[in-house]
Amino acid sequence: MRTQVGIVGGGPAGLLLSRLLGLAGIETVVLEKRTPEYLRARVRAGLLEQGTVDLLVEAGVGERLLRQRLCHDGVEIAFDGRRHRLDLKGLTGKIVSVYGQAEIQKDLMTAHEAASSNIVYEAEDVSLHGLMGDRPQLRYHKAGEAHEISCDFIAGCDGFHGVSRQAIPQEVIRIYERTYPFGWLGILSDTRPVNHELIYCNHERGFALCTMRSMSRSRYYLQVPADEDVADWPDARFWSELKRRIPADAAAALETGTSIEKSVAQLRSFVAEPLRHGRLFLAGDAAHIVPPTGAKGLNLAATDVRFLSEAITAHYRSGRTDLMEGYSARCLARVWKAQRFSWWMTALTHRFPEASPFERRAQAAELSYLISSKAAQTALAENYVGLPIASTALA
Ligand SMILES: Cc1cc2nc3c(=O)[nH]c(=O)nc-3n(C[C@H](O)[C@H](O)[C@H](O)COP(=O)(O)OP(=O)(O)OC[C@H]3O[C@@H](n4cnc5c(N)ncnc54)[C@H](O)[C@@H]3O)c2cc1C
Repeated sequence: MRTQVGIVGGGPAGLLLSRLLGLAGIETVVLEKRTPEYLRARVRAGLLEQGTVDLLVEAGVGERLLRQRLCHDGVEIAFDGRRHRLDLKGLTGKIVSVYGQAEIQKDLMTAHEAASSNIVYEAEDVSLHGLMGDRPQLRYHKAGEAHEISCDFIAGCDGFHGVSRQAIPQEVIRIYERTYPFGWLGILSDTRPVNHELIYCNHERGFALCTMRSMSRSRYYLQVPADEDVADWPDARFWSELKRRIPADAAAALETGTSIEKSVAQLRSFVAEPLRHGRLFLAGDAAHIVPPTGAKGLNLAATDVRFLSEAITAHYRSGRTDLMEGYSARCLARVWKAQRFSWWMTALTHRFPEASPFERRAQAAELSYLISSKAAQTALAENYVGLPIASTALA
């Protein structure tokens, strides 16, 4: 079999790339190892920058998003038992949107079904070959049968644990990594959110985040040790711990209920450079991971996809190669700013078990400075709503 662009991974990055290329008349095949049912049910991100919303609309999958999203003009930071609102819109002129990643996944899958796109679910043993030649290949098994696809280019959109990044020789790739001594225990429940905007809570018992997917579905997170077992957290224990970490007025208003999903996510900062090796281009979590505090992972994946679809389209339309050559540098310039912000937000809001008394006092001073300084609030807000996207690689 032959295609123009072979895409490994049918998460948000892979399906959005396939969609944008399809609209530009470029043929793709997506290889995804999971079932459609699994993908539709996977609960992850929820906060979208305007640039991500715009790209989904451009891709023709924004109709339900624009109808159902919650638009947030602000965000709250709580510490010492008090809540402080940052006026994102007033500080930057921009807002953020709440719309679950599972919904984006469903919208993309529905659009692909309608377009009869070539997506192979339950593709096993995917491997990449001939990346430095003119015709790289993807090999895989499906229902016990071996297949090979010959491609012009391969996009590695297979997330942090995928095979694409591993196909780049170790002497070529550079890894920058930081792990954190804690994770996030998250639950989803069909209860009304405790507040109409997010509340990030710094508490001596650990960080907590109150967020939501809709006005009837809440998402809450607790900072827990990195090796925490979710089985040790029956719902009653989760709600009681959350109430201890959030300000008293929020705890009093908190509506509790049965969890419909509960999981622990490890926190990690990770960048692999460069994002291109021969005819392979990495995009999204395959190339970089941020701790979820800054809500940047999916947004970064969307920006990579925007840049990659522009580069591939320019190649087929006019033979331009500069956007492909500049792809890695263009993505990394934005990725590192989001890395810095996510690391900083994590340091500001979490309790680090190994922190010295000096570091604890410095963190308290930083929070106090934040709520007293418009300049500090603007710096947080402009990163939180999403930094501008450069319109061309060479701009
Ligand atoms: C708790 C939590 C909260 C988050 N909150 C936010 C937020 O508010 N905002 C935000 O922007 N981001 C957030 N994120 C991050 C966001 O979920 C990810 O950045 C996003 O999923 C990246 O998309 P992706 O398509 O690059 O990778 P993935 O979603 O990981 O998709 C990769 C796909 O590749 C498939 N795959 C893997 N290996 C193979 C293989 N060998 N062969 C074939 N297919 C393969 C996988 O099954 C998967 O479908 C959060 C993450 C977590 C864990």
